[in-house]
Amino acid sequence: MAKPKEKDKREKLDLKKIKKILVNIKKELDEEAVSEEKLVAEHEDNTFADANDLATHDTDITNEMNVKKIKDAQYEDVLEALERIETEDFGVCEECGADIGSKRLEVYPTTKLCINCQEELEKVQKAKSLIANATKVE
Ligand SMILES: [Zn+2]
Repeated sequence: MAKPKEKDKREKLDLKKIKKILVNIKKELDEEAVSEEKLVAEHEDNTFADANDLATHDTDITNEMNVKKIKDAQYEDVLEALERIETEDFGVCEECGADIGSKRLEVYPTTKLCINCQEELEKVQKAKSLIANATKVE
């Protein structure tokens, strides 16, 4: 009845629960995408009276495109996470191979990093942005 030790070390994740969370996020993103398409279609129906309106319109579109980019990335993350659940790679940190932990996964189901690696990454990103800002100021 002895189980292999490696398996015992792994935290048992409630994959069903996490999958449900992911499917819900996917559904929400799907619904938002539909309403966005409507919005874009409405935009296109509009005729613009003057240049001012046109400028505002351009800004709107740029903002929408940025939001869409972020949402597309989120969507990809959700799909990837769902795939990982199927292949059982789910819940393992991409960097160090440690368990990410069920609590963290239930809050951030699309994360690929454990809290330690995430903090390291954020430190590096923060340092990088500080350097980038510092070089901007002469
Ligand atoms: Zn890690």
